[in-house]
Amino acid sequence: MKMKNGFPKRQWLLLILLVLIAAGSGLTRVFLSLPVENPANDRQIIFTGNIIGALQRIADFFLDGILFSKEKKMYNKLTPEEERIIIHKGTEPPFSGKYDKHFEKGAYTCRRCGAELFESSSKFKSECGWPSFDDQIGQSVKRLPDADGVRTEILCAKCDAHLGHVFLGEKYTSKNTRHCVNSVSMDFVPPQKQKNQKAIFASGCFWGTEYHFKNAPGVISTTVGYTGGKLDNPTYKQVCTDRTGHAEAVEVVFDPAKTTYQKLAKLFFETHDFTQLNRQGPDIGIQYRSAIFFLDKQQQKVAQRLVGELKKKGFDVKTRVVPAKIFWPAELYHQDYYQKTGKTPYCHVYKKIF
Ligand SMILES: [Zn+2]
Repeated sequence: MKMKNGFPKRQWLLLILLVLIAAGSGLTRVFLSLPVENPANDRQIIFTGNIIGALQRIADFFLDGILFSKEKKMYNKLTPEEERIIIHKGTEPPFSGKYDKHFEKGAYTCRRCGAELFESSSKFKSECGWPSFDDQIGQSVKRLPDADGVRTEILCAKCDAHLGHVFLGEKYTSKNTRHCVNSVSMDFVPPQKQKNQKAIFASGCFWGTEYHFKNAPGVISTTVGYTGGKLDNPTYKQVCTDRTGHAEAVEVVFDPAKTTYQKLAKLFFETHDFTQLNRQGPDIGIQYRSAIFFLDKQQQKVAQRLVGELKKKGFDVKTRVVPAKIFWPAELYHQDYYQKTGKTPYCHVYKKIF
């Protein structure tokens, strides 16, 4: 028979019994810490303390068992090999993992708890033998000094699953970071099953665009970069020539349970002057154009509907709604510019329209 909340009746009784034992042992410990005035009683007190201590150890064992089995239910069952790597911090042999040469659109999640860890857009070819990512999703990965005293271990921030190590300063990508991850520690999720979604907006100088999205509710992370041009992996200097065809843009990762693409698209229109063609205030050139780079049909529909609404309101909308191309993250010094400098944007000011 089950109680109303689904906890079996017998386990409730066991729990109450264990709480009583724990409380009793606590009182005995307080009693034992008091100065003993009559040495004749010493042996009796120690004896009582030992029995209570033993009972408490038994109680702890059962309580741990209940809590651990409850926690365990939330996690995926691991094979012995997965346990060796994820729990006991092992390493898979190089070039052996199923995601080493895997380059599909989607997200890589924690094998143990399912948390989204890395976007496929942050995966790059390092030829080191393990999947390599130059960024993580939000705060999903935590870093700890490795037991070897040299490397930095990376773990799932949610469940502490061992993922691999992080290396800085190798100059593989502009982010100068390599999360070196065991394939065994991860699962892959295609875009339609992803918990977090992405959006790409261009509205002039990307410092200002990022400033507003970074502070918007439901946004997990933002990256400034270049997209919509011809050159691979362009630099800021190349984009500034106005000849590569790229736009300064911001890639926004958001939680669809906390915000919507429409809300973000409205924020995009409300934080820049979308009636200017190929410029924003003092910044002139096609790299400063107003554009929405949609990632799927749904985003395209929302963007086009909002453009239609603005036109009905009488605005001469210059925003281009175009399919997303590869997004190239910009140099590190451009990331989080206003957060780092404490300044505020010069031509991105919020103005309510919708
Ligand atoms: Zn996890």
